[in-house]
Amino acid sequence: MNTATGVENSPEAGTGQAVPQTPVLAFEDVTMTYGGLRVFAHFNLWLLPGRVLGVRGPSGSGKSTLLKMAAGLIPPAEGRVTLPRGPIGYVFQEPRLIPWYTALENICLAMTACGHPKAAARETAAGLLSDMGLESFENHYPRQLSGGMNQRVSIARALAVKPVLLLLDEPFTGLDPAMKSRVRDNLSRVVSDQGISVMHVTHDTRELLPQTREVVTLGQWHDPRRFGPTRYLG
Ligand code: ADP
Ligand code: MG
Repeated sequence: MNTATGVENSPEAGTGQAVPQTPVLAFEDVTMTYGGLRVFAHFNLWLLPGRVLGVRGPSGSGKSTLLKMAAGLIPPAEGRVTLPRGPIGYVFQEPRLIPWYTALENICLAMTACGHPKAAARETAAGLLSDMGLESFENHYPRQLSGGMNQRVSIARALAVKPVLLLLDEPFTGLDPAMKSRVRDNLSRVVSDQGISVMHVTHDTRELLPQTREVVTLGQWHDPRRFGPTRYLG
């Protein structure tokens, strides 16, 4: 059960500004349950514009649940989650591509659903696939691609919507070390260039984007020696 107060990363903290910034994403006194299982209790967390936040914790600690709430896919039982006004890019733990659409079509669909014009969508989608090392696989269906390739398509799809908030759930799973490094560098560059706010779930903090300034550790609250509420990097 996660009860982090979030005081440490409140909008006022560390900005050096008299006027606090408005968070892109805010969890306020959030309690979340699945039936009788309480995963979050009185949980508070803020994400400021352009910040990259890491989230780690053991399996079952609620990392994916946190991202689903951040995307508005599941509502909290109590408390409030304030979402950004602009598009959200979401790299799910599994690629979640539409099987009867090609790699290119999967990306175009996300873009047109977000209001991007159809004609420009194909060109943008092709460029993003190329950035992911998939230029020869535009017309392949998910079943014709490996797990790691499908994961890269899903990263391209998340960037294609020009997100203000990017949610990453173990995004590098299934990528070999060289590809992981390439995709991570590419993501890092796009995040900086476009000033995207990021919530990045990983079990391996070495995978976090280099601009990550904070890491929240979710965990078994009964063992604070191992899983404290909040940790910082750098
Ligand atoms: P993590 O991503 O950190 O592994 P999850 O957010 O997936 O954790 O799950 C947190 C807890 O909630 C786990 O105990 C999991 O079994 C439970 N859980 C997740 N999704 C559901 C669901 N749809 N229904 C019931 N329990 C769930
Ligand atoms: Mg998970």
